[in-house]
Amino acid sequence: MSEDRFDRNERLFGKEGQKNLRRARVAVMGAGGLGSFCIAELALLGVGAIDTVDREDLSLSNRNRYVGAWHSDPIPGTPKVELARRHVELIDPSIAFTAIKDDIVSAPALELLKRADFVLACVDNDGVRFFLNEACLAYNKPLIDLASDVPEPDRFGGHVAVITGGHGCLHCLDLLDPHEARRFLSNAEMVENEAAVYGIKASALSETGPSVASVNGTVASLGVTAFMALATGTKLSYNFLTYRGDLGTVSRKTTTGTDDCYYCSTVRGMGEWADLERYFRMQRPSSESSAA
Ligand SMILES: [Zn+2]
Repeated sequence: MSEDRFDRNERLFGKEGQKNLRRARVAVMGAGGLGSFCIAELALLGVGAIDTVDREDLSLSNRNRYVGAWHSDPIPGTPKVELARRHVELIDPSIAFTAIKDDIVSAPALELLKRADFVLACVDNDGVRFFLNEACLAYNKPLIDLASDVPEPDRFGGHVAVITGGHGCLHCLDLLDPHEARRFLSNAEMVENEAAVYGIKASALSETGPSVASVNGTVASLGVTAFMALATGTKLSYNFLTYRGDLGTVSRKTTTGTDDCYYCSTVRGMGEWADLERYFRMQRPSSESSAA
């Protein structure tokens, strides 16, 4: 690699910072609209090892926002993780890249999480977030959670939460939708009953909302910049960012969780004793584990 490839990076965070990025292994959970941006930026930053998990293939409706998807990529038949692999290899073939085409809530994904130095959550389902939050706490992995959010057409943006220990987790910071988390914890039969009782169509449980490249790209850049700061030793002055695209604002805050959070107080650092594998033994509906 050319000596000066990272010269402009080093002018920001120094040679030692660049070395730290090269030594880092980052797991990007979800290689979709957010994940594809993050993976490209991590590769450009010079991160030495990138792992990703996504079980889906590219679909026609993904073409509006997938960095690295070409018009000639066949549909069906193009796994999202293979688009990420090709893109990383084109940017820098010396990066160690591991792609797993599987659920994020799976044993292979958990193995990647356990070996990562940082975890970026790029998912659009709070059940999957619930799992990643618990797993990152159990194995003491810094978690950067990214979300694009378009609750209504005239209000759009997203958020980035940085969970590094000591300042709460996605659960006690109240960042998980209880309905989605409960669906995740219930089995497929209960979800079907719920759908029957409340009239929730299966299609409403899968990806249907707005998703726009520029909004995803902004959220991804905020998340990757938070990672960059942590990895290069720059102190973060926040653990939560709110991006409002409609207002043109990014606001920051430092929040703390609750003292009695079960995940922060009991699960943190449990490692194997947390038995994350119990989630793989549950039968879950097929709409889970989707990338953002
Ligand atoms: Zn907590």
